[in-house]
Amino acid sequence: MSHTIPSLWAATARPPLTLPPPEGDMRADVAIIGAGYTGLAAALSLCRGGASVIVLDTQAPGFGASGRNGGQVIPGIKIDPDEIDTVFGEATTEFVGKTAETTFALIEAEGIDCEASRDGWVQGSVKRAHLGLLERRVRQWQTRGADVDLLTRDEVRAHTGTAIFEGGWLDRRAGRLHPLNYATGLAQAALAQGADIRVGAAATLLAREGQGWRVSLANGASVLAGQVIVATNGYSGALFPKLRASLVPAGSFQVATAPLPDALLQQILPGRCVVSDTRRVGNYFRIGPENRLMMGGRGTFSDTPADAAYARLIGNLHRIFPETRGLPITYRWTGRVAMTADHLPHVHQPLPGLTMAAGYNGRGVALSSALGTAIGGHLLDGAQPLPFRFTDIRPLPVHALHPVYATLAIWYYRLCDALET
Ligand SMILES: Cc1cc2nc3c(=O)[nH]c(=O)nc-3n(C[C@H](O)[C@H](O)[C@H](O)COP(=O)(O)OP(=O)(O)OC[C@H]3O[C@@H](n4cnc5c(N)ncnc54)[C@H](O)[C@@H]3O)c2cc1C
Repeated sequence: MSHTIPSLWAATARPPLTLPPPEGDMRADVAIIGAGYTGLAAALSLCRGGASVIVLDTQAPGFGASGRNGGQVIPGIKIDPDEIDTVFGEATTEFVGKTAETTFALIEAEGIDCEASRDGWVQGSVKRAHLGLLERRVRQWQTRGADVDLLTRDEVRAHTGTAIFEGGWLDRRAGRLHPLNYATGLAQAALAQGADIRVGAAATLLAREGQGWRVSLANGASVLAGQVIVATNGYSGALFPKLRASLVPAGSFQVATAPLPDALLQQILPGRCVVSDTRRVGNYFRIGPENRLMMGGRGTFSDTPADAAYARLIGNLHRIFPETRGLPITYRWTGRVAMTADHLPHVHQPLPGLTMAAGYNGRGVALSSALGTAIGGHLLDGAQPLPFRFTDIRPLPVHALHPVYATLAIWYYRLCDALET
């Protein structure tokens, strides 16, 4: 998969941290593989609880989805509250309803400088057929006390600056941030609490040793730890093949325009909410750093042709905001979203002392922050419940063919989207 760097985030981020590589035989209470939000939030909560932690990544914190995403901090998961109650229980619904709040509170408590702002999320629908679904979604969240409202066609237009939506809803719990600065800030906060973050060598082997685990690294170093958290998500590789086979790493593509002139800034997203739509393969957009309009969307699951994915995205941008047609597209980049077959996040503990969380299905900024924190708390004190029960890892059939069948799935979803009114 190609990762066009620098992204808008990399170009506008604080300098990356200088972190040492893993060396020799290291020891910690907990080894965490993956320095994205899941791993870093877990590290922070474990260190705050007095555990010694080593975080391992092949690259700098935020190299994965955490440094490339749309920076939309949205609570909830892909299913609605009544269904979450049924599938997981009411405590999970309460947890996922508060993930944005938890994330913003964490940022404030740690003083992380990442342009965090709670201006809300509008989910718009270009399909009249989806309006009933949105009404139910809003009613279910309102029943649970969430600060959300249904929006008319005109109200969505006033919030977004585009007339493409038939209706929508506003979730005031949500907001936005600079994802790479957030990842770097989380890493700094974890370091300040005593975490040891090591970069530059992949974890290649996990082996049981005594009551704990030995993590072997590509440069010959190793870590012996009582507990291991695998937080590699959409970037999961050969380290734990079964986990990788349970996920489809879908390409999500983004572009950013040149800075918007003042007149357009007053017209497009005037309240600076973040936006996505209800289609199965829809778009998401926001104003980013330097007042650039950013738009993202799912490409085919295979890598190629990336140019076709960008062309489609730019076509959508110009269809949604025709007034931006003359503006150059200055940045384009991509990253991997970890999809699951049931569209739900998965938390696994396949063996004692080995915990994994993955599969946020493109709704992971707030969820990974809150879930990583919860996993840290749970490992410190088994009595602290996790918001999601452990499930078996279920490899997808013929996973090696995922670029093929998942591309077919995208075409199928696009067809379904097109057929709906
Ligand atoms: C383009 C894009 C846009 C998105 N937009 C949004 C959005 O606007 N809102 C939202 O809520 N969600 C969004 N998401 C999803 C969100 O970014 C992710 O769910 C979240 O960042 C996942 O964090 P994570 O820590 O679990 O995984 P990641 O951030 O992907 O971290 C995994 C890390 O594991 C490391 N790793 C992998 N294997 C090894 C190994 N063997 N040894 C050492 N290190 C290893 C990788 O280098 C990587 O740093 C988006 C995702 C993408 C890609």
